[in-house]
Amino acid sequence: MTLLLSVVIPLLNEEENIPILYQELMEVLVPLEEEYEIVFIDDGSTDRSLALLRDIQQKDNRVVVVSFRKNFGQTAAMAAGFDYATGDVIITMDADLQNDPKDIPLLLAKIKAGNDVVTGWRYDRKDAFINRRLPSIIANKIISKTTGVNLHDYGCTLKAFRKEVIKSVKLYGEMHRFIPAIASGMGIDFTEVKVNHRARRFGSSKYGISRTIRVVLDLMTVKFLLSYSTRPIQVFGLMGVVSGGIGFLLALVMTIQRQFFGVPLSDRPLLFLAVLLIFIGIQFISLGLIAELQARTYHESQNKPVYHIKKVYRTEDGEQVVRESDGWPIAN
Ligand code: UDP
Ligand code: MG
Repeated sequence: MTLLLSVVIPLLNEEENIPILYQELMEVLVPLEEEYEIVFIDDGSTDRSLALLRDIQQKDNRVVVVSFRKNFGQTAAMAAGFDYATGDVIITMDADLQNDPKDIPLLLAKIKAGNDVVTGWRYDRKDAFINRRLPSIIANKIISKTTGVNLHDYGCTLKAFRKEVIKSVKLYGEMHRFIPAIASGMGIDFTEVKVNHRARRFGSSKYGISRTIRVVLDLMTVKFLLSYSTRPIQVFGLMGVVSGGIGFLLALVMTIQRQFFGVPLSDRPLLFLAVLLIFIGIQFISLGLIAELQARTYHESQNKPVYHIKKVYRTEDGEQVVRESDGWPIAN
């Protein structure tokens, strides 16, 4: 059975890279035994990128170009690519030639072997050490520790996804690098493969060191969504109870000392701490309750289930059937 492969490529001002990229893609995709399409997302380029892409698109009917009104960022561009991709397998990559299209067959083979997500690992990464690779090494370690997903390289855009996975993931902020972590929360099988990485020859990188901070902030969101989004009171409530409890105990001790032992309260800074802890406790618990309301609105308004089904086995008209979660019968 041939698959339809969608290659999704977000880009911003990559005019020198586009013709070479297309050439390299053709060298890999044409000999493949699969159907393919290429979805370019022009993320508000101000150079000749869009004109070049339209040129290619007019000559090749397997190319789709999505053009943004302004620059919405790489993650948003990828989200648009997922919406416009029609393939069974979706492959994402950068347009700056840093990812090598020659790795596509490798990723595809891993998907065919049964993985839902395959991510590239730039084991020999060609970027500056101090401001790119070092922060990335640290960030990758932190992400692995917090999410419990063990990958060497979250930042590599070269990844392959089965369409069922990607269609149920919503992306915000700098989230595209967390798709494996988000997917792991859905109980999905994924693996990592070593991929080639090349130095940027044309154009310039769109990011600096400040991205590390944004990634860490997004990591907190992902961690929260993964672990507690359906029961926020468990996090905030716990913090509230601990803080309020300590505050209450301190206040109790001071009250007893004041009432029965005549210890004055006037020069005791501890009193402030007790009051503060009680206040924080109340705040946290209220926050947890509000978050609980939010969680319900979030899931119910969008019909978002709190679970993810792989298959359903049942008897229909006296026959045993196996269905995918979206209701389609599947052959197996
Ligand atoms: N990109 C984009 N929108 C942006 C920034 C970047 O579509 O706002 C694209 C960019 O054209 C490239 C990919 O995302 O194809 C990765 O960007 P870059 O090479 O600058 O990142 P780095 O490789 O330095 O991490
Ligand atoms: Mg790059």
